[in-house]
Amino acid sequence: MHTREACLQADQQDPLAPLKAQFDIPAGVLYMDGNSLGVLPKAAVARSAQVIQQEWGQGLIRSWNDASWFELPSRLGDKLGRLIGAGTGQVVVTDTTSLNLFKSLAAAIRIQQQAAPQRKIIVSERDNFPTDLYMIQGMIDLLQQGYEMRLVDEDLSLEQALDDSVAVLLLSHVNYRTGHMYDMADVTAQAHARGALTIWDLAHAAGAVPVDLTGANADFAVGCTYKYLNGGPGAPAFIWVAPRHTDHFWQPLSGWWGHQRPFDMAVNYEPAGGIRRYLCGTQPIVSLSLVECGLDISLQADMNEVRRKSLALTDLFIALVESRCARHPLTLVTPREHAHRGSHVSLRHPHGYAVMQALIARGVIGDYREPEVLRFGFTPLYFGYTDVWDAVEILTDVLDSEIWKQPEFSRRGAVT
Ligand SMILES: *Cc1c(COP(=O)(O)O)cnc(C)c1O
Repeated sequence: MHTREACLQADQQDPLAPLKAQFDIPAGVLYMDGNSLGVLPKAAVARSAQVIQQEWGQGLIRSWNDASWFELPSRLGDKLGRLIGAGTGQVVVTDTTSLNLFKSLAAAIRIQQQAAPQRKIIVSERDNFPTDLYMIQGMIDLLQQGYEMRLVDEDLSLEQALDDSVAVLLLSHVNYRTGHMYDMADVTAQAHARGALTIWDLAHAAGAVPVDLTGANADFAVGCTYKYLNGGPGAPAFIWVAPRHTDHFWQPLSGWWGHQRPFDMAVNYEPAGGIRRYLCGTQPIVSLSLVECGLDISLQADMNEVRRKSLALTDLFIALVESRCARHPLTLVTPREHAHRGSHVSLRHPHGYAVMQALIARGVIGDYREPEVLRFGFTPLYFGYTDVWDAVEILTDVLDSEIWKQPEFSRRGAVT
């Protein structure tokens, strides 16, 4: 695709293109941050009015039953499960990814304490999203039993890290900064061969790449709904537990929503059968309700088609940037091999922050991550080939004109 005309043609032949009409995207914006905060599904506007005015306003307390509020975490979990290779009754949408990491880490450690108590190492990678590492550190500190975190980095390969002392391996399927993707089935098999359990963070994978938790024989998975699943800012996260573990252990945030009979108001905790034991307390119903609007759009798309288009968009972006911006100090951070690429592309530039602010001022909304990384997300449900062309045109202009050197583009906000 060497011309804008060719991109327009590719858009016309794109089977996913009609889905864009179900989203409300501001005019003049090329949105390349769906990996951080997804866009607004049009249906969410009517749904929010319904939840607030009818279900809350008129239904009041009756809506827990009449509007099935109590069932929402499971009903949404079942829909989401179809996107990540999970069976019915195996996923709940609840809490935050960080909290779900806590629950899954605690459960995985508990399983290992019974099976192999000498295993005291939790493996992750230095480049993992910070909250994943912080939750491991918090868990180790809470347990006070000699657990240690071991990080994979340029000096320690995953293979080297996985020895007989490892209890749990916690990795992101797609890395938030580099866009690198692991082969989930292969890595899970490696971990299992060494006796370790796996927790997969699907924050940058769910809705972006095909995921098959069942096929990969994974143990636990968590992830966000506000990124590629377009659930809304701060929308509740999800958690999946392999059925072979679910009923044998429970997680320590044993709130009443995870009780077998919450309205018995019993003195003693008794975990619900199945994945509902991973719930803790009362859910944010308004926010939770809106998650369904994004999920319903994702479920209309064939994930293999989403993947095919995502790779075509990222290939096109990389090729255009390399040919049009060759004289600028941009380096590709994201792997070129399809098998190891998620759905965003990261480029390094010595003045990455200012360049991104100048791009945002021109309507190309990506984001910036330390150090020096410009991140561009590609969401095949609403981003097209012509959008890629136009975004690279603007990037080229921002770099050629050096407009990013204007002082206002170096001022930092609280969120980058
Ligand atoms: C976005 C992201 C999170 C976010 O966690 P929250 O609890 O929702 O703030 C966690 N892990 C990864 C890998 C992420 O990309």
